[in-house]
Amino acid sequence: MSHFLDLPPLSAAGFAAIEDQVAALLHTEADVIVTQGEALLPLEAAIRGAAHPGSTALNIVTGPYGQTFGNWLRSCGATVVDLAVPFDSAVSAQQVAEALESHPEIDFVSLVHAEAATGNTNPVAEIAAAVREHGALLMLDAVASVAAEPLLTDEWGIDLCVIGGQKAMGGPAGVSAVSVSGRAWERIAANPAAPRRSYLSLLDWKERWTDAGRTVLPHAPAQLEMLALGACLDRIAADGLPTVIARHRAASAATRAGVRALGTLTPFVREDAHAAPVATTVRTPAGLHAAELAATLDPALPIQPGGGALAAEMLRVNHYGQASGLDTVRACLTALADATEADGAKALAAAEAAWDATV
Ligand SMILES: *Cc1c(COP(=O)(O)O)cnc(C)c1O
Repeated sequence: MSHFLDLPPLSAAGFAAIEDQVAALLHTEADVIVTQGEALLPLEAAIRGAAHPGSTALNIVTGPYGQTFGNWLRSCGATVVDLAVPFDSAVSAQQVAEALESHPEIDFVSLVHAEAATGNTNPVAEIAAAVREHGALLMLDAVASVAAEPLLTDEWGIDLCVIGGQKAMGGPAGVSAVSVSGRAWERIAANPAAPRRSYLSLLDWKERWTDAGRTVLPHAPAQLEMLALGACLDRIAADGLPTVIARHRAASAATRAGVRALGTLTPFVREDAHAAPVATTVRTPAGLHAAELAATLDPALPIQPGGGALAAEMLRVNHYGQASGLDTVRACLTALADATEADGAKALAAAEAAWDATV
């Protein structure tokens, strides 16, 4: 393993090149900052940069991360309007437009694209159009959607788009990125409460790195994670982003079809259009405790119980990154068939047909 420790330092040019690759992946010409920490770092940095006492935020809650954003927004002194929908569905652009209409003072909107924890995904293009018309700033948590479904940052008008490498990108955890639109920079620069000289400061990065020509790194980067991120971006480029996205879509369609064919379990997210390509959540019937079922499965399988209260009734099949293949889907369905005494062959046939119809 010693070769990992003998690397020359990552150069400023190498760091900037990785930022440019992320910008291409996000279809954005805005500034991209590759943040040296898990995705919660740029998410919190974006909220603390934009929110302040006197601002009003629309916080869309479609899963556990939305709840976290609401807490940060409140701790910044912002007034928060929560728009929550059941975690087994999606929010509609209509609901967002109505919330904006009844609170004209809303100047910031936080939204999660896909929710890996609950398996749902939101129609960001339509929602962003409503937010744009209203004039508020839009922050999108795209950690679980990037590389699993289309993400058109500039075309849709997303001001702050946050990603991480460890889900559909099949890359490292512990490194993340945020794109910042010109409008978002203006807003953050005008916010006296925005973090400065702080780990959470996007403005520090702008002043000391982006605007300074990206020639001298302000901090020692997380070198191994950065190299892994660069390698994973190269792999996505080599495979082709549409191919990577199609694989995730097919894994989702196949898993949902297979689960329906089992008969013993049901997709947690009811409508196919609301199902996230990154992970399929499954509802266990009354009397069958999801976490207890999960504990009987091969731990090598990417199946885990739902978090918090959902541990009793929901399982999550993660088919992302290297696991976005028919082999993983087959292995998961076979295990779920065995654990619930269902017809595995029927589930596999349904899954394979759905996979073939989708890729
Ligand atoms: C995984 C995930 C995160 C958290 O990413 P970390 O890098 O672990 O902080 C945030 N939001 C969503 C939607 C996620 O799926």
